[in-house]
Amino acid sequence: MHERALVDLAKVCGAAKIGLRFARLGEWVCLLRRAMSVVLLCLLIPPCTRAQRTQFKPGWNAYSPQQDIDLGKQVAVDAEKQLPRCNAPKVDAYLTELGWKLVAKLPTEGVKYPFEFHCVNDKAINAFALPGGYVFVNRGGIEAADNEAQLAAVMAHELSHVALRHGTTEATKARAAQGFVGILGAILGDNAGGALLTELGRFSAGGVLLRYSRSSETQADVMGTQVLYDAGYDPRALAQFFEKIEADSKGQNPPEFFSDHPNPEHRVERVDEEIEKMGGLPAKIKKDSAEFETIKREVQALPVVKKETLGGSPIARPIGPPALPSANYAEYQAAAYLMKYPDNWKKYGEKSSISFAPDGGVMEGSDGEAGLAYGVIVSVTKAEGDASDAETLEKATQEMIALLQKGNPKMKIERQPGRVRVNGLAGLSTHLSNESPAGGEEMDWLITVIRPEGLVSFVCVAPQKDYEKYDKTFSSILDSVRFRK
Ligand SMILES: [Zn+2]
Repeated sequence: MHERALVDLAKVCGAAKIGLRFARLGEWVCLLRRAMSVVLLCLLIPPCTRAQRTQFKPGWNAYSPQQDIDLGKQVAVDAEKQLPRCNAPKVDAYLTELGWKLVAKLPTEGVKYPFEFHCVNDKAINAFALPGGYVFVNRGGIEAADNEAQLAAVMAHELSHVALRHGTTEATKARAAQGFVGILGAILGDNAGGALLTELGRFSAGGVLLRYSRSSETQADVMGTQVLYDAGYDPRALAQFFEKIEADSKGQNPPEFFSDHPNPEHRVERVDEEIEKMGGLPAKIKKDSAEFETIKREVQALPVVKKETLGGSPIARPIGPPALPSANYAEYQAAAYLMKYPDNWKKYGEKSSISFAPDGGVMEGSDGEAGLAYGVIVSVTKAEGDASDAETLEKATQEMIALLQKGNPKMKIERQPGRVRVNGLAGLSTHLSNESPAGGEEMDWLITVIRPEGLVSFVCVAPQKDYEKYDKTFSSILDSVRFRK
């Protein structure tokens, strides 16, 4: 569902790709900036070969740093209610001290985040940081660390996600995905932020904030390594820890950590490369402390909270496809139409581009970008010509298909537009196929109708393998449409 050629460039820029217009602009800015920085570097350092530590710029983000803090705080309050605490003041105090030592070396671009560090009584090897700096470390993470440097490494990795604002970068991408992977959203200038912010504010509904792309993981690794290095810890500890927990789980379920932090390729090589860039391994490096060993023993002695009583892990990646559409329907009223949708789906976005999708219906594709895999997108776009003229509908529909294909180069027309009726009005039905973010092929059923407000498009999306299970729901949704007279 993406303009493939632009993906790499956008990644080089460290910018989240949202829609063609932004991507194209970003491409030029990026090239220009790169060209300029190369020229400048060559002027300043004559041989132009000297390696430097990797520099970062947070990716494209629709939220402000203050919104990161507000949003993170809101979710943290919810998380604290849902997660079992260690109830060990010494452990929290230790995490806080270690955390602030690392924060002192964290580049936050002048933003003062209200960092907080909490111990969670969960044996799963995991840690996570919410936007704004609310860091939660599972007891399992502390227990799995061989030394202080390894625990510092996990925390430095998490803190880097905060500094690089990866949580709201992902939310920006998810928001873009609602308007048909950004294309419609970017063009229509939809204002989905408010709705999504409310949605994200609930920890159980979260996930979006904590599911990072592989490129974000590499960035957090590299920045985390720099933080460790500057704080005097063994900078190799980061890759060592992740390698170790992966190796320990061979043949079993991978650690929970990897469900939110997908393992990037060449992790060890990338960390080693960064250490080289910073001038190689320092002569004096800290690996462990007596304090860490004491804290680890205290954590090991904590009572175990059984997983069942956790009410399921709210941050775990949903396994398998989302729940099937409910047979009960909720009603949505737009200015131009009324429609119904399964009451276990949620509404995202507003006004000119709205998506209805089940929990887990927006997924990260193989390219690491978020896309709608299950659900319906309804949009209203400007159409030129006489609304009562059949040619206007045909022309506007072709333009819509071209627009969709521009943003989704793998999209193919499976069945050319054919006549249908929607709420008694003439419409066109087109069957398209595309690469699904859920893997494999997806079907996109496009229904278009001309109204005085413009071209109203309904895009029904489901992976090919599951389409049969959604077909009836899509038909019911379209049957429920009532245009306002
Ligand atoms: Zn991560």
